[in-house]
Amino acid sequence: MTPSDFPCALTIAGSDSGGGAGIQADLKTFAAHGVHGLSAIAALTAQHTRAVNAVHVPDARFLRAQIDACFDDFAIGAVKLGMLATAGIIHAVADALEHHRPPALVLDPVMVATSGARLLETEALEALRHRLLPMATVVTPNLPEASLLLGREIRSVAAMHEAVSALRGLGAHAVLLKGGHLDEGEEVVDLIGVDATVREIRHRRLAVRAHGTGCTLASAVAAQLCRGRTLIEACRLAGDYVHRGLLSGYRPGRSDVLVLDHF
Ligand code: PLP
Repeated sequence: MTPSDFPCALTIAGSDSGGGAGIQADLKTFAAHGVHGLSAIAALTAQHTRAVNAVHVPDARFLRAQIDACFDDFAIGAVKLGMLATAGIIHAVADALEHHRPPALVLDPVMVATSGARLLETEALEALRHRLLPMATVVTPNLPEASLLLGREIRSVAAMHEAVSALRGLGAHAVLLKGGHLDEGEEVVDLIGVDATVREIRHRRLAVRAHGTGCTLASAVAAQLCRGRTLIEACRLAGDYVHRGLLSGYRPGRSDVLVLDHF
C-alpha cells in the first residue's frame, strides 16, 4: 500500500473536552475501523458527562485552513460533518466542500445535545437545510433533528417513513433516520432510505443514558464508506458498531452517563 492508498476520513465537527462525543468519538471510531482520521475543529466545547459549560467557535477562515490542509496532503475517502455551531461556519464548510468535492459526505445534523445544550444556533438551520443537505451522500438525523428540519413532530414508525421521503424531498440523497427517541417497544427502529426503498434496521433497546452515539454512528458510516462498503452495508454495520459499543460502554464521569467503548 503506498502512503496515498491508506484510507483516510476527515471529521469536521466540534471537540468534546469530556472525550465521549464529537471529534474525540469520531477519531476513535475511525481508528477502530482501520481508517486514518483527520480532523478540522469547527467548535470547541467545555463539557463533561453532565453539561456543556461553554462553546467557542473559531474563525471561519481558520476552519477553512484546517480543511484545506487535510485535502492538500491526504486522499480523503469520506468526510463526516458534526457540530457546526453557526451559519458562518456552515457556509465556510459548504464552500470548502464545493471546492474539494470529497467522494462521500456523511452529514450528522447536530443541533441539541442529550443534556439539552444547543449545539447549533437557531438561525443556522436554514443554512444547513439549503447548503449541506443537498450535498450529503447520507444525512443521519435523530427524531428531534428531523423534526426541526421538517417543521413537524415525528411520533411513530409510520411518521418516520413519511419523514424519510420528506427529507429526500429537501434534497438529501439518502437518509439514515434514527428512531431511538421513539418511546415504543423493546426495539429501536432506524430507517435507511436509499433510492426508492426504505429499509428498517432493528436493535434491542438498551436502558442506558448514553453520550456520543450519534457522532459514533455517523463516523462509522463514513469509515465504512471509506473502506468501500455500499451505503446500505455501511449504515447496517455502523448501527451494529454503536450497539456493541453501548454493550461494552463504561461510565468515566460522575454521572450515570455511558460512553461508548471503541474496542
Ligand atoms: N458535543 C459535541 C461536540 C457533539 O458533537 C455532540 C453530538 O453530536 C454532543 C456533544 C452531544 O452528544 P450527545 O447528544 O450524544 O450527548
